[in-house]
Amino acid sequence: MSKARVATMWLDGCSGCHMSFLDMDDRLLELAGKMDIVYSPIVDMKEFPEQVDITLVEGAVGNEEDLHKLRIARERSRLLVSLGDCAVTANVPSMRNFFGPQKVLDRAYVENATLRPGPPKKDLPVLFPGSRPLHELVTIDVFVPGCPPSADVIYFVLNELLEGRCPNLSDKSRFG
Ligand code: SF4
Repeated sequence: MSKARVATMWLDGCSGCHMSFLDMDDRLLELAGKMDIVYSPIVDMKEFPEQVDITLVEGAVGNEEDLHKLRIARERSRLLVSLGDCAVTANVPSMRNFFGPQKVLDRAYVENATLRPGPPKKDLPVLFPGSRPLHELVTIDVFVPGCPPSADVIYFVLNELLEGRCPNLSDKSRFG
């Protein structure tokens, strides 16, 4: 039997959901018998590949670059998983939505800067007015809440999806 092609993506999040993914520890070796990780911050693949079976996305969408990546993941993935509260509700990134992009940039690059205050001259993505959860922008197949979801929950979700089942998280999250 061929292995499933699995990707993970990191948008507007703190990487804590990916840390939780890695916290599966030796269970990752077990999962490696059923899946290959074809794109992720933890592997050295620069382009999101075609024909991905399952993609787990951490983080909200805060700028055009996030949205572009998310749309590519949606187009090329059979199942798209919203991983963690930032992806599901916009959570922490949405705290900036009350202030607007300019105040956020001033806070980060001017008020808190001790050397050369001011935003970088290049490679700074233009912020959307607010950070948004994934499902407002693309169709999501599975929602996995938690900040972060535990390694046990991620393991459960992956196993269920790899076995062709829709994971029932009703007794595994605070929203159950
Ligand atoms: Fe970090 Fe929590 Fe957001 Fe995951 S859900 S990216 S752990 S803040």
